[in-house]
Amino acid sequence: MKTVFVDVDTQIDFLFPAGALYVPGAERLVSGIARLNRHAEAHGIPLISTTDAHSENDPEFRQWPPHCVAGTTGQLKPRETLLAGRTTLGFAAGARAEPAPQTIVEKQVLDVFTNPNFAGLLASLAADRYVVYGVATDYCVRCAVTGLLATGKPVALVTDAIAAVKPEDGARATEAFTSAGGQLTTLAELTS
Ligand SMILES: [Zn+2]
Repeated sequence: MKTVFVDVDTQIDFLFPAGALYVPGAERLVSGIARLNRHAEAHGIPLISTTDAHSENDPEFRQWPPHCVAGTTGQLKPRETLLAGRTTLGFAAGARAEPAPQTIVEKQVLDVFTNPNFAGLLASLAADRYVVYGVATDYCVRCAVTGLLATGKPVALVTDAIAAVKPEDGARATEAFTSAGGQLTTLAELTS
């Protein structure tokens, strides 16, 4: 069974208290997320890392404080979540990424499926199962798992490697996910 790990928006602006759009408690996830990413690398599990890559005056900033502007430190992923072998898949139509252990998929809105090249990446990876973690449970993680479930493949959410903007909204998103057939797993289950 081919598993693909999906690491959602684990970027400095979301993960750390000094970040532009801090997700409460997210800094405590970084070591676990790094462990999951290394686990993927060690076991030949393809890793997709979604990232916000906004322009300076992105339309999204009418709703949210400016964050993850391309070229800023806040847009970067913490070093320990990066694999040595990585490539970036941009959102310009027709962009391609060479196969690599970690594919960083850029997006300008919440839902990674808005990257027109994402469906092609999923097709090329041909996963039998997705394992999803990152931030924020009630926004970008919710969008990612909803789209992945719609592919018809099993999707598991790592409950101790996610964090929500609002805990009650995160709990609601997790409930909706399991009601739709999603599975829950943990760091220990995946990496021990
Ligand atoms: Zn954003």
